[in-house]
Amino acid sequence: IQQEVLNSEKIKIVSEIAASVAHEIRNPLTSVRGFIQLLGEDGLEEGKRKFYQKICLEELDRAQLIISDYLTLAKPETETNEPIDLNREIAYIRNILLSYANYQNVEIACSLTDEPLWITGDKFKFRQALINIGKNAIEAMNGEGVLRLGAAGDLSGRIVIRIADNGSGMSAEQITRLGTPYYSTKERGTGLGTMVSFSIIKNMAGQIQIQSKIGKGTEYTLTFPGIEGPQAPAAAAEEKPVMP
Ligand code: ADP
Ligand code: MG
Repeated sequence: IQQEVLNSEKIKIVSEIAASVAHEIRNPLTSVRGFIQLLGEDGLEEGKRKFYQKICLEELDRAQLIISDYLTLAKPETETNEPIDLNREIAYIRNILLSYANYQNVEIACSLTDEPLWITGDKFKFRQALINIGKNAIEAMNGEGVLRLGAAGDLSGRIVIRIADNGSGMSAEQITRLGTPYYSTKERGTGLGTMVSFSIIKNMAGQIQIQSKIGKGTEYTLTFPGIEGPQAPAAAAEEKPVMP
């Protein structure tokens, strides 16, 4: 009986998720359809054509993001466990966020050192987790501000990632609602981004700390267990400069 209850509960959740995927995807599809129709008009001026095309691409990206968030929800366990070169990944994530930041008139300041930083997990999921957090940070700034992105090792061998914005900030009550499904204060929000990010980070044995002040901004501190890089250079010790 217990198992049957669990199964029926699962089916209920799955059908709820399916219904909302359909709903979420329909919106961007409808607007893409409308703009493609406009693109077909005779004598369309160049500026408008570019504008319509830009919106279509954005809406398709939005649909894509919604789908990957839902897929992650449906299959949250991290199966892949590979070493992740954090310096590389942060640079990659910065580039992805950059076009979005430019569009929202926000700057990105990235601080990385040449210290090797390695963690372990699925790098595609890790990207998704950080991109969701970074996008929220950019959206919170309402067209003005700096997204700060950085990573460093601490003394106990853990890796600390910071993602900070000087955007709208959140109250303590709002922070507690982060990561719960469908919590969104945005007109076109899904309320799934943080839920997906948190589940990915927890699966990677990461910890999440959030500090925020209304009107000042928000700082995410993510802490992961560090690992030794795969090509730990054995010769490095000899190359160390000797104190004169
Ligand atoms: P969505 O972005 O679709 O609204 P999320 O789960 O990504 O859903 O975020 C949920 C809510 O958390 C947002 O609507 C917003 O109110 C709040 N939030 C998340 N990150 C920040 C941030 N950096 N600054 C201010 N509010 C935030
Ligand atoms: Mg979001």
